[in-house]
Amino acid sequence: MNVVNPATGEVVKSVPETATSELPTLLAAARLAQKSWAKRAPGERKAIITRFRELVVERKEELAQTLTLEVGKPIGQARNELNGLLPRIDFFLEHFEAELAPRGVLGTASESLEERIVFEPLGVIANVSAWNYPYFVGANVFVPALLTGNAVLYKPSELSSLTGLAIAELLHAAGVPKDVFQALIGGRELGAALLRLDVNGVFFTGSYATGRKIAEVVAPRMIRLQLELGGKDPAYITDEVDVAAAAAAVADGAFYNAGQSCCAVERIYVHERIYARFLDAFVAEVKKFQLGLPTEEATYLGPLCRGEAALEALAEQVNDAERHGGRVLTGGKRVDRPGYYFEPTVIADAKPDMRVMKDESFGPIIGIASVPGDQAALTAMADTEYGLTAAVYTTNEARAAQILAELPVGSAYVNCCDRVSPRLPWTGRKHSGIGSTLSTLGIQAFLQPKAWHIRRA
Ligand code: NAD
Repeated sequence: MNVVNPATGEVVKSVPETATSELPTLLAAARLAQKSWAKRAPGERKAIITRFRELVVERKEELAQTLTLEVGKPIGQARNELNGLLPRIDFFLEHFEAELAPRGVLGTASESLEERIVFEPLGVIANVSAWNYPYFVGANVFVPALLTGNAVLYKPSELSSLTGLAIAELLHAAGVPKDVFQALIGGRELGAALLRLDVNGVFFTGSYATGRKIAEVVAPRMIRLQLELGGKDPAYITDEVDVAAAAAAVADGAFYNAGQSCCAVERIYVHERIYARFLDAFVAEVKKFQLGLPTEEATYLGPLCRGEAALEALAEQVNDAERHGGRVLTGGKRVDRPGYYFEPTVIADAKPDMRVMKDESFGPIIGIASVPGDQAALTAMADTEYGLTAAVYTTNEARAAQILAELPVGSAYVNCCDRVSPRLPWTGRKHSGIGSTLSTLGIQAFLQPKAWHIRRA
């Protein structure tokens, strides 16, 4: 399989693909290896993942360069991803043993009867993953899964195969047995074949379109299924803000990683009293973003990883917005240079039915609309099939809380956006998915309870 550098459009490497015919053998090996992996003392698994963390730190620069090469992520942002990986690993290392420990129950049945909850690993899980933050979305699954005694068949996105292979190499070097963690290299056909295997859980990160197909295939088997899908995340800027600061924060939330984040700000609603001022401040911020080769230190905006398909989808959103009365304040087209670059694009006076306000853009484009007040903002923010995150900017915390409490989203942001914490569950509602990663819920996701009823004879 060819690895294409999105900054140039050139093939930079090729990697051998995993044949679908090999999958049953790989599963059988994983099943056998998982049994002894789960029997090891938790402290042994902890030591191995701690060693993995050390290797990530030692090899950080090389890993960041690989990520930049294949995904086009600006090098500073690639380093940020690796730095951000460490506190996630630390959270899991610190808390998995408590989640794994057997628990007594609330209340007692009787003196001769003991009731206890024991947590067991799921077994062998399949993880089909996305390319936009391969370390984050990968580690949200494989770190807690391995610590709790599962084996993982991991299919990185075909757009981040080198990173997937690097993760496997580091885990194996740290001491995870080869059959316990296997990286399977390939595209959607391999992903689909993997999900037909008799695995004990499926953990998927990617688009709603793919997630829905996966849910349909997996549903009759009654196994654990988690889906971390897309979003159309709104931010509302009330009239009680420092306009310049809010504009800077939300511009970063919309354009970081060229907008290719599941929780990127994708729609902005601004109180009509500050609308004109906000637009000026926002466009001024966007014009500061430096577009260039992702290998250059100063670059903030790199190319689009999905290439031509992504560029076409963005151009269509711009055309559609212009046809329906949107004003393109800056950007609006592909950049005339090699690789897959799109100008950072701001569309004002966006209407609810425009594609830029409905479809996940996943690129450097944003629609902004004026709203007369909080109720209108709430109605507009809720007008989406997705439910990942929503943000409100205001100095009046109670006002933000009132709006966010009403919204069916997994994450509510007050004066912040595009943020993920290892201590909080990462979870989507509606078409943004089911289940949670991160936090202690994201450890429990890889365990199944067994209820023990022990009558003393
Ligand atoms: P995608 O759905 O195109 O692909 C995701 C993965 O699924 C890839 O590994 C791909 O090979 C595989 N795949 C494709 N078709 C398949 C099939 N029929 N059966 C099994 N596997 C199949 O998504 P993408 O372009 O890699 O990622 C971008 C999407 O992911 C965006 O929608 C983004 O919002 C979402 N995402 C969500 C989160 C989150 O935490 N909620 C995080 C990152 C990305």
